[in-house]
Order: sequence, then C-alpha cells, then structure tokens
Amino acid sequence: AALLVGGLAACSQERAAETPEGDGAAAAEGGLIGIAMPTKSLERWNKDGAHLEELLQEAGYETTLQYADNQVDQQITQLQNMINQDPEVLVVASIDGTALGPVLAQAKEKDIAVIAYDRLINGTDDVDYYATFDNYEVGKLQGEFIVEQLGLETEAGPFNLEPFAGSPDDNNAKFFFSGAWDVLKPYVDEGKLVTPSGKAPKSNDEWTSIGIQGWGSDDAQSEMENRLNSFYAGGTKVDVVLSPNDSLALGIQQALEGAGYTPGTDWPLITGQDADKANVQNMLADKQSMSVWKDTRTLGDQVAKMVDQIVTGEDVEVNDEETYDNGNKVVPTYLLPPQVVTKDDVESVLVESGFYKASDLGL
Ligand code: BGC
Repeated sequence: AALLVGGLAACSQERAAETPEGDGAAAAEGGLIGIAMPTKSLERWNKDGAHLEELLQEAGYETTLQYADNQVDQQITQLQNMINQDPEVLVVASIDGTALGPVLAQAKEKDIAVIAYDRLINGTDDVDYYATFDNYEVGKLQGEFIVEQLGLETEAGPFNLEPFAGSPDDNNAKFFFSGAWDVLKPYVDEGKLVTPSGKAPKSNDEWTSIGIQGWGSDDAQSEMENRLNSFYAGGTKVDVVLSPNDSLALGIQQALEGAGYTPGTDWPLITGQDADKANVQNMLADKQSMSVWKDTRTLGDQVAKMVDQIVTGEDVEVNDEETYDNGNKVVPTYLLPPQVVTKDDVESVLVESGFYKASDLGL
C-alpha cells in the first residue's frame, strides 16, 4: 500500500508540475478524465474529442485525450497509460468493442469508472455506463428514407439495391444494419428490391458478410467497384445504395463516378450518417441523398454530465436500461435521437444550429 500511495503522490506532483497554476488548482478539484477516441481520420471523432475536452476543462477537470489511428493495440496502450495516471473516469470510444476486457479490469481494480462513448464495449463487467445515439433508429431512418424516396409502398419496382454494412468489430454496425434491414427486407422478399450482386444478407445476423472492416472509404470503393464490374457490366444500373455511414458513402460515390454515373441523371439514391463536411458538400452536389445527423455536441454534453455525476457521487442520468446487453451485463445507457438531413436542411439545420459555419461548406 505504501508503494501505491507513493506512486500516486509522485504522479499528481508530476501533473501539477506540468500544468499552469490556474489549471493545476482546477485539476486538484476536478481530477483527471481520460478520453480515448478511435481515429483522427474521420471528421466526427475530432469534433467529439475536442468538444468533450472543452466541456470537461470548463467544468474544472484535467483531461488527457488520445487518438489511436484505428489500431486496437495502440488504444490498449493508451488506456494503460491513462490508468497509470489514476484518472477519475475513462471515456472510451472503442475500436474493437470486444478487445478491452483485460485493460478495463485494471481500471476496475483502481476503482476508475468507465463510460463507453458512442460504441458499446462488450464481454466485460467493467463498463459502468454507455452514452450513444439510438443506433437502431439510425438504420431505421435510412431504410425509411429509401422506402419513401422510391415509393416502395406503391411502386412495383424492381429497383436494384446494393447494401453495405459497417465494421464487424463495431457493436454499432449491427444495430445500423438491423434498423435498416427490418424496414427493407419485406420489399426484398416481395421482389420490389433486388440485388444483382447477390450480396443482400438473408437475415440480419448475416450482416458481417457485407461489413467493411475499419469503416474505410477505400475499401468501400473497391467493394463497390467489384460489384459494378462484375454485375452491372451489361448496362444494368444501380438504383439505390444502402450505406451505413458517410465514410463508406464517399468511397461508393468514387466508384460510381469512375463507372460513369452522373448526378442528376442516373445517379442512385445513397444513404449516409454523420453529416461529415465532404458528404454535406456531396449532398449539395446531388451525389448523396441524405445523411443521418447525430449532433455530437449533445453526446458530449451528456457524457460531461455523466462524468460529473459519477465524480460527485450523484445518481447518473440514463434513459435505457434494457437494450445494450454486452454479453456480461445490460449497460445503463443514455440514448440520444438521430435525425435525417437532406440538401434542403443544410442551411436551416446544420448551419442554423451552429454545427457548421456557412463558410465551412463554401456557402
Ligand atoms: C459511429 C458512426 C461512425 C462510424 C465510423 C460508428 O461507431 O457511430 O458515427 O460513422 O463508427 O467511425
């Protein structure tokens, strides 16, 4: 025990030495919060990290924010380093939702609380809370958009649909797919939606067969190119692409452009998620039909509140205690609502709300 106390004292002295006086005082009050994010390569995670860090610092906490380049090992090392600094709480947006059990067991031993951020962490007891957008609803909104735009309730079709799914190691991806497929599958069964590539999963459980590992735009592009080359060579046209998010949509758009599709004429309907800047610009250019917007500022607000409730020993606010079973336990969750945006909402929703400045979007 003496060793541990010595270690802690040395550690907090080190922190005090590193921070200017004002922050040092705040840190002593609020303590350290570790934030682990998956990658800087996707726009949203940069915004997520910056916003959460700002909120926590304003509330008097010291923060350490780390990005792991989508490398699972790197994220584990970063978490280990954070745990060595004895934070009050760890906020973790995982890369592989099943790989963090052992490192989080170390956090548990030190009584460090763990909040899963946006993505659930599976197969461990050592995750205390989860905060996210309603992931099933994200997929459902994509599916409903397709039904409405194609008029599937009345139109006979058939329409050519190419479905994609997210990264198999991301717990969210199966919710996105299930939400969409529960809406679309009846039309597949009816023959109103057909998939020339044969890549339509027979059931929700088979979604990983079309999952793009790591959510990479390049991989989505090669997959779409393969499908176009192999199954659309004779003049058959894609009518609609179910893309679970914006990074995949970008790759799919590149493949379509390469194959000679033209916005405003034979360009298919394409879904997305995140309202990333490049994709909003693509919506304005008629290359993407919609995006499911998750105002990540509200997620940061909720998580900052959770952190504070944990540290001060108050009841932690959650609104879903049944959906997110991680295999070991149902993790108490705060779910936020996602919303559809199209090109018509760019100014009135994305700019008006301050999510983007008009100038960011070249408006
Ligand atoms: C997030 C999405 C994001 C995707 C790729 C998911 O877990 O919920 O917003 O597009 O990961 O980073």
